Amino acid sequence: MNNRAIFWFRRDLRLSDNPALLAAIDESDEIVPIFIMDMEIANRAGDHRRAYLAASLASLDASLGGRLKVISGDPVVVLRELISEYNATSVHVAQEYAPYGVARDARVEAAGIHLTKTGSPYAIAPGRIRKSDDTPYKVYTPFFRAWATHGWRAPVGVPKKIVCVEIKSSERQFPQWGIPEGVSLPPAGESAALSRWKTFQDSELENYDEQRNLAAIDGTSKLSAHLRWGEIHPRTLLAGLGKGTGSEIFRKEIAWREFYADVLHHNPHTSRDYYAPRFANMRYDKPSENFDAWCAGKTGYPFVDAAMRQLVQEGWMHNRTRMVVASFLVKDLHLEWQHGANFFMKYLVDNDVASNSHGWQWTAGCGTDASPYYRIFNPVEQGKRFDEDGAYVRKYVPELRHLSGIATHEPWLHADGYSQGYVQRTVDHAAERHESLARLAEIKI
Ligand SMILES: Cc1cc2nc3c(=O)[nH]c(=O)nc-3n(C[C@H](O)[C@H](O)[C@H](O)COP(=O)(O)OP(=O)(O)OC[C@H]3O[C@@H](n4cnc5c(N)ncnc54)[C@H](O)[C@@H]3O)c2cc1C
Repeated sequence: MNNRAIFWFRRDLRLSDNPALLAAIDESDEIVPIFIMDMEIANRAGDHRRAYLAASLASLDASLGGRLKVISGDPVVVLRELISEYNATSVHVAQEYAPYGVARDARVEAAGIHLTKTGSPYAIAPGRIRKSDDTPYKVYTPFFRAWATHGWRAPVGVPKKIVCVEIKSSERQFPQWGIPEGVSLPPAGESAALSRWKTFQDSELENYDEQRNLAAIDGTSKLSAHLRWGEIHPRTLLAGLGKGTGSEIFRKEIAWREFYADVLHHNPHTSRDYYAPRFANMRYDKPSENFDAWCAGKTGYPFVDAAMRQLVQEGWMHNRTRMVVASFLVKDLHLEWQHGANFFMKYLVDNDVASNSHGWQWTAGCGTDASPYYRIFNPVEQGKRFDEDGAYVRKYVPELRHLSGIATHEPWLHADGYSQGYVQRTVDHAAERHESLARLAEIKI
C-alpha cells in the first residue's frame, strides 16, 4: 500500500513556490489533493468572488491533470472521511492567519486531525516581526524597516513530479458559478498570475512609483486577486524586484499587505471592530438612501461614482479610488466603516479580511494611521488630480461622456453638465466635512 498524504489547498491555489505542497510530496508516495468548499465562506462571498474561485479551481485542476478533489462540507467531516477512505497518514496545509481560518483549523485539530503546517501566504509569517521589547509594531514605517531587514526565504520551484491518487467522480463537486451578466473579471489561476506578473515586470514596474496613483491607466500590477487566492506567492514577486524606484515602492506595497496581516493577527477583533476603540463612540448615521446611492455609484460625485461602478462591473477598484470612496462613506455620509467594508467584501475578487478591514479603518481614521491630522479626501480635487483628463470617469459613467478633460469632474459648472441624466450631488462635501470634524471633536477628550 502506498503512503498517502492529503494536501488541503486553501489560500494557495498554485503548484510553484508552494513549500507545503513540497512537504506533502516529500513525505508520501501519492498525494490526495483536495479543496473543501466551505459553504459558510462561499455564502459570504458575492457572485463575483464565487465565479473567480470556480475559475481558479478549474485552472488548478487542469494543472493537476484533472485529479483535484473538490468536496463541499464541514472540513472535520470531509477530512475524517478522506483520511479513512485513502488511508492517509498526514494532512498538509499552509498555515492560516486570518481569524476565520485560524478558528477552523483549531476546530479541525481539536477533532483529533493533526495538520502539518508549512509556510504561509506571506513572505514573513504574521507575528514574527517584533519590536526590540518583543511587542508587535503598530505603525507601518518601522514595521517595514524591520520586515525588510529580517528578509525572507527564496522561492521554491515547481515540484519535479506530483503523483496524485485516482479519484471518484463523486469527489469532483466543482462549483458551477459563472461570471454574472455584464461583469468582466480578470482571468484566474496560477498561469494567469505568472503571466500578469511577467507583463507587469516588463512594462509598468519601472514607472510604478509615478503611475500607481493614476486611476485611468493600468499602472498597478492587478495582482491582488492572485495574491488573495495564493495563485502566486509574494516571495515570487519580491525575488523578481530590482533596485529601481518602481521596485522599491512595489516592495513597500507588498509590505502593507504583510503589515495588515500582522496587525490582524495580534488584534483579531479588528476584522469587525474599531482598532482605535474611541471611534466606536463617535456619532454615526444609519444607512439610508444616501448609502444606496453610494452603492449604486449615484452620489453625484463623478470620481466616487466611477469607482463604485468599476467595483460592481469588474470586482476590483483602483487603490486611489478605494480611499476616496471609503472617505466619502465615513466622512461625507457619516456611516460606520463596516457598512462599506461589507459592500466591498461582497464584490471584490481580491477581498482579503486584513487588507480590507484595515484599509477601511486607515481611511476612516480609526486604524493604524500615524498621521497626526484627520484626513478627509475631497472627492472633486482627488478626481482632478488623479484623473486629470477625466478618462476614468467617462469610462464608467456614460452620463458624463459628453464632457471632456477636467470638466468631467464638475458637471455642475457646465450648462450641459446634466444633459445626459447624471444625478445631482446628494450631499454638500464642504458642509459634511465640517460636520465630520464636529463629530470628531465630540470624541476628543
Ligand atoms: C478601503 C480599502 C479597502 C481595501 N481592500 C483590499 C482588499 O480587500 N484586498 C486587497 O488585496 N487589498 C485591499 N486594499 C489595498 C489596495 O487597494 C489593493 O491591494 C490594490 O488596489 C490592489 O491592486 P493591485 O494589485 O494592482 O495593487 P498594486 O499597487 O500593484 O500593489 C501590489 C500588491 O501590494 C498589496 N497592496 C498594495 N496596496 C496595499 C494596501 N494599501 N494595503 C494592503 N496591501 C496593499 C496588494 O497585495 C497588491 O496586490 C484596500 C485598500 C483600501 C483603501
